Amino acid sequence: MRLSRSKKLVLLGVALVMVGLAGRASANETPAAPLASPAPTRSVPAPAPVKKAKPKPKPATVKPAAHKPSGPAGSRMTTGTKAVALTFDDGPDPAQTPRILKLLAQNHTKATFCLVGKNVQKHPELVRKIVAGGHTLCNHTWSHDLKLGKKSPAKIKADLARTNAAIRKAAPNAKIRYFRAPGGNFTPGVVAVAKQLGMTSLYWRVDPRDWDHPKNETHAQHRARVIARVERNTHAGAIVLSHDYAQPDTISAYRKLLPWLRKRYKLVAL
Ligand SMILES: [Zn+2]
Repeated sequence: MRLSRSKKLVLLGVALVMVGLAGRASANETPAAPLASPAPTRSVPAPAPVKKAKPKPKPATVKPAAHKPSGPAGSRMTTGTKAVALTFDDGPDPAQTPRILKLLAQNHTKATFCLVGKNVQKHPELVRKIVAGGHTLCNHTWSHDLKLGKKSPAKIKADLARTNAAIRKAAPNAKIRYFRAPGGNFTPGVVAVAKQLGMTSLYWRVDPRDWDHPKNETHAQHRARVIARVERNTHAGAIVLSHDYAQPDTISAYRKLLPWLRKRYKLVAL
């Protein structure tokens, strides 16, 4: 090969540059490993690279929540579909239940009512009204016993059966497919008895704490808080907890919430 001196020099230069680049490239690949384990003691905390290290922007995807996580003792927390379910607890209430029934009807929406046996006994006509409206029934114990789950299976069964009997006396053909422990205090024992009686234990995903009335909160503030919490926390598949019993502000909140929710979700009775 006959190359002029200058050409040789050029080739040599190119070769050197390539070797240099290759060396740098391999040098760039290696540091990842040493960084991970020996972590050379640095005086500078260097938080920036750590932030860069987790590339999880997670675009606010509307997840169907079909991979439903469970509530306490395996109770149900989500609808299992993209639909959202509204639940109203502790009634029936002679003043508030008719109000929410009217609002639901105006909004062509079905919901689920978790009834307290004692109130069912006092207002059987309201149970019939709930059933006539196409809503779903849920057993919420005889007297809202927050500790029922810790009692013996026999006591639990007696309570739930008494409540179901009162509901059936009011509305003979009504199905009672759900059970909700007061306070969400589900235990394996109470869930098992409910199952024996053909009821699925029903927890929730969204709790606007509409039952909570801090001393200095006005009615308007309370309503605004319930609305804000439901709007902020409701996602596809959510079961929303609210109370129709003795909670006039909750019902007023739903005057605004129902149209808002309907625009975004399919609302279903369970
Ligand atoms: Zn309750």
